[in-house]
Amino acid sequence: MLLLTPGPTPVPEAIRVAMSTPTIHHRTPEFEAIFAETRGYLKKLFDMEEVLMLASSGTGAMEACVLNLCHSKALVVNSGKFGERFGKICEAYGKDFVEIKNEWNTPVDVEILLDMVRKDEQIDAIFVQVCESAGGLRHPVEEIAKRVKALRPSVMVVADGITAVGVEKVDATYLDALISGSQKALMLPPGLALLGLNKAALEMIENKGVGYYFNLKIELKNQRKNTTAWTAATTLVIGLKAMLELLEVDGLDKFYSDTKKRALATNEALKAIGFHIYPKVPALAMSAVLDDDAAKIRKILKSKYGVNIAGGQDHIKETLFRINHMGLIEVYETAWTLNAIEMAMSELGRRTYDGTANRVFTQEFYK
Ligand SMILES: *Cc1c(COP(=O)(O)O)cnc(C)c1O
Repeated sequence: MLLLTPGPTPVPEAIRVAMSTPTIHHRTPEFEAIFAETRGYLKKLFDMEEVLMLASSGTGAMEACVLNLCHSKALVVNSGKFGERFGKICEAYGKDFVEIKNEWNTPVDVEILLDMVRKDEQIDAIFVQVCESAGGLRHPVEEIAKRVKALRPSVMVVADGITAVGVEKVDATYLDALISGSQKALMLPPGLALLGLNKAALEMIENKGVGYYFNLKIELKNQRKNTTAWTAATTLVIGLKAMLELLEVDGLDKFYSDTKKRALATNEALKAIGFHIYPKVPALAMSAVLDDDAAKIRKILKSKYGVNIAGGQDHIKETLFRINHMGLIEVYETAWTLNAIEMAMSELGRRTYDGTANRVFTQEFYK
């Protein structure tokens, strides 16, 4: 079965092989050397001052940022399940927060956000997704960061880039923290959270470490010495190093441009066979389509054509389908998926099959 869901993504064979070596102890020069090299690659990937690797799924890094980078009141951007999660973390810790809530296809309005920051001196941190995976939309994170810093530089801007890091070059110049995870664009098994940090966030963490497992002050101190506070996710770190080495071969620019071409060509192909792209500003990580037959189409794809694409969540669980573009994906894999979707439409009596999806995708990709 072709796994084309926006996380988890398939683990390439070279990475599976790299992770099949005998377990090594984490407090050894051998592992520290691997850790150091991985840190070097990650600093390049994030293009930020410092990076941390945490043994948790992506949500662990979200929680760590809420704990360590917000000490007064959070402003949370909620255009979907993952934005909502930042608010839930605040709630769990009894942290004061306000939320900008929008429909899942709608990016946050920068002016509204700035206005809220302007009017509320208590707000000391902003939490926003780069790509909100619930509806596949792209928030204007770079603009938010730049303008918030111009307005009140002390406000921490934390971006959840779990479906953006490794998809596109996220400009982290004005960001304080950028979160990622192992099981999306980096094509590893779940279980490793990644965090890029810039100067202001580092200063805040060094002045005030909060929490226990997710106390970033303790992590920072250890990881700067190429070790971890708690037992490192050694196998995943070994896999991550192998993956980042693999990406070095053709370079990150090629990785990003292939992803972008696949995403844009897919959206054109879907529109050409009559679908509506759900997000008002689509991210490149996935293509999301709102359609009454979404659940039926997914079922046909799974049972007949060997393709697993994702549905939606909550109120659009049955009416959304999402095709992943993150990671190393062969052109023919996406082409086949689109072809299968067109076949499914024909089976549902919606459209006579004529190969349009495949043709438009291929032409757009190679143009
Ligand atoms: C997948 C994802 C997460 C992390 O979820 P985990 O299950 O904890 O790894 C967070 N934010 C976004 C935008 C995601 O797509």
